[in-house]
Amino acid sequence: MNLTGKVCIVTGAASGLGKAIADRYAAGGAKVVIADLNADAAKAAADDLNARRAGSAMSVAMDVTNEDQVNAGVDAVVKAWGGVDVLVSNAGIQIVHKMEEFPFADWKKILAIHLDGAFLTSKAVLPHMYAKGSGAIIFMGSVHSKLASPLKSAYVTAKHGLLGLSRVIAKEGAARGVRTNVICPGFVKTPLVEKQIPEQAKTLGISEEDVVKKIMLGDTVDGQFTTLEDVAEVAYMFAAFNTNALTGQSLVVSHGWFME
Ligand code: NAD
Repeated sequence: MNLTGKVCIVTGAASGLGKAIADRYAAGGAKVVIADLNADAAKAAADDLNARRAGSAMSVAMDVTNEDQVNAGVDAVVKAWGGVDVLVSNAGIQIVHKMEEFPFADWKKILAIHLDGAFLTSKAVLPHMYAKGSGAIIFMGSVHSKLASPLKSAYVTAKHGLLGLSRVIAKEGAARGVRTNVICPGFVKTPLVEKQIPEQAKTLGISEEDVVKKIMLGDTVDGQFTTLEDVAEVAYMFAAFNTNALTGQSLVVSHGWFME
């Protein structure tokens, strides 16, 4: 149960949760691929990891909604490092609007990044995992995979959808050693969340302080944000757990905001 020498692709790893997961995997001895739309930031994150642990990281520029870019990125990883052991499909964005004002283009953009991205990256890595007879796929869900909030129609729909896709891959992959699980974090202070605070304050007509205290953390057991490290630790556990006892599952990491 460790990741030493395992090849782990993390999408959206130039920032936030993906970056923290890549750091945690590298600290555990893995070889990590920083796959991100932002090529410069991806390279900087990989350089930073390599400065601390030589040979532990490579970067790949990839828009997860673009099939050719996803396939080319995975091919480059396989060429460089011989295979893929772990995929974390993490890249994501947030756009908030009231339902009746939600631009159709924004709806499609959110669904594409979260759902097409998970589909395309999984489809690209599965043949390599099947060839080895082992692999772990982890989707970045959310508490919004389990419940709904106002203004987030597209995000909630996409995050619920990831649970279904994960369960199908868990069933198809079991006989060939591939497990799939979903992490469902509460609010973590990343650029994605920092951006939402003023947006929600404006849309709901309340202060930014109230957005944090009442909307984001109001239902937690202790009023605390979930941390990058909390989520990275769960991502490590799902990647390193190596039997089908733990597949097709989702784990909520949210200071008790959602309990099941
Ligand atoms: P972030 O904005 O810090 O990082 C997202 C990364 O994804 C960025 O580096 C960005 O360049 C990349 N990205 C965006 N679109 C992409 C695309 N089409 N192809 C490739 N890369 C792309 O965000 P974050 O908060 O770290 O979020 C990461 C994931 O965690 C998302 O799926 C998000 O929905 C989920 N999540 C976040 C929170 C939270 O509170 N921050 C809570 C639950 C779930």
